[in-house]
Amino acid sequence: MDNNNTKAAAKIILANAEAKLGKIKNTKIPPTTELKIQTRRNLTAGEIQMCQQIFKDSIDYSKVLLHRGILGFESEFAITPNGEIFFPVSEYDNVQDFSKSKVSGESKCFFIHEMTHVWQYQQGLANWLHGIKHGCKLDYSSEAYSNDLKTNKLKGYVTDILGKDKEKKFNEFNMEQQAELIEMWFDAGWLQNVNPKRNHHIQSVRLSGYVERILRDFLHNPYDKSLLPINP
Ligand SMILES: [Zn+2]
Repeated sequence: MDNNNTKAAAKIILANAEAKLGKIKNTKIPPTTELKIQTRRNLTAGEIQMCQQIFKDSIDYSKVLLHRGILGFESEFAITPNGEIFFPVSEYDNVQDFSKSKVSGESKCFFIHEMTHVWQYQQGLANWLHGIKHGCKLDYSSEAYSNDLKTNKLKGYVTDILGKDKEKKFNEFNMEQQAELIEMWFDAGWLQNVNPKRNHHIQSVRLSGYVERILRDFLHNPYDKSLLPINP
């Protein structure tokens, strides 16, 4: 290839490169899709109304946050250490509003149980500390039979209100048992039309008179701090 031919070849290569570059420059970059996953939310108006039937306005509902998982991690259980509820990711994603009629009885009870911990925290209980203590006693990792619910439950949650807990006042139950009792009261009183063949509902209705006696002071005045567990 002589010098002229080399120059001509170089021009062609350059022209092709410029043409390609032009094409790239003129190609519009497609917009990226931004996927936002909401990781926490406030209570809905319906959830607040549902809670007011039990806790009245003893809870400052505007302070309550519901979180997706524990710091972004999946967990089997919910924890409510500081007046905010950390739900399992699946529960958080599946239920946008616990007050809706399509939500299962189990989920509604789950929510009311955790809201009891919010109530305890806002009345002054250090739930996070007592949660650690229960953990150390294996209350969250070993099971025992619940005479009240006719099934096995985690040890810290078990109540026996017709037996050994017969004489106990509300503040003599630990923080998990208090949540269980309020859950039973809620199930018996408000979930008659939410799959009433559930075992939890049947046992809650069976014991509702006894539960009402234990909860009488609480239902009358949920603002009363002396109702917090003596041995949380
Ligand atoms: Zn609990």
